Amino acid sequence: MLTFKDIKGHEDSIARLSTAIGRKTLASAYLFHGPEGIGKFSAAKAFARAVNCETETGHDCGICSSCLRIDGGNHPDVHVINEGYDTEIKIECVRQLQQEICLRPYEARYKIFILNDSHNLNAVAANALLKTLEDTPAKSIIVLVTDKPRVMPATIVSRCRRENFRPLSRAAFMSALAGQGFDAPAREYLSYSCEGRLGMALKLKGSPVISDKNSAIDRVLSGRLDDSMKREDIRKELAVMAVWFRDVYVTKLGLETAINGDRKRELAQCAARYGFADLERIFAAISSSLLYLEQNVNSKLLLANLQVSLQVGRAGG
Ligand SMILES: [Zn+2]
Repeated sequence: MLTFKDIKGHEDSIARLSTAIGRKTLASAYLFHGPEGIGKFSAAKAFARAVNCETETGHDCGICSSCLRIDGGNHPDVHVINEGYDTEIKIECVRQLQQEICLRPYEARYKIFILNDSHNLNAVAANALLKTLEDTPAKSIIVLVTDKPRVMPATIVSRCRRENFRPLSRAAFMSALAGQGFDAPAREYLSYSCEGRLGMALKLKGSPVISDKNSAIDRVLSGRLDDSMKREDIRKELAVMAVWFRDVYVTKLGLETAINGDRKRELAQCAARYGFADLERIFAAISSSLLYLEQNVNSKLLLANLQVSLQVGRAGG
């Protein structure tokens, strides 16, 4: 569990939230926004724990019964909506929230509702939520978490106290990963591939980061992209590909700054095989694939297109 004091690089937000808890000046609605994978959702859960911790207010001790149950997702007063799904949030979800929010907390100080990826509220659901935000019952807090605040209705955003989460500096990112038990090669690799987004890196905790990225590179090199992967896994694969072809590019330029320094031989082979125009086409294909993935384009189609762009010498490359 990532407690308030473990959350690195977002000290301003954490301090503001802690102070509001201590002074009992909490808002009834918050908007946690910032790039995908930055740790907003972890911060929202830590906030819920800090608000309701049984030991000291403003700090989530991480070991009391309340903290443990919030972390485990079985506290009766803390509700997470849309965790792990990047799908439309429908009116039924908001109705459920509305029924629940009218009841007093069972045991906690506050009832807390975390709406993950809240930009996925559909228009009807957003309208219904607006009514609740206009008149949130006492002792309840709604936390909207999103990487796309701009696509959310201004009427909703304006009713929330905003906390902006930014990418971490390299030093803060590396030290946070060390604290979470990542070994040195994994920290080094992730510091480039995650671009300071701690939440993205923490999803890989406990997995063999280096051998997983090498397997993904092997799939790319052999032209065997697996189209049965889940969207989340495709996103990870695309991130590995982006770093790989960035490395091919710098190798081609004669620079010694490859992030995949453990695979210099294959990098040299790729650098000889692909022209600069090929590489530029591949970068464009990877970034449009990431965009298509967000727009829920069929993943088989997406990977088939990407596979074509990995072939050498198209479009005069
Ligand atoms: Zn606690």
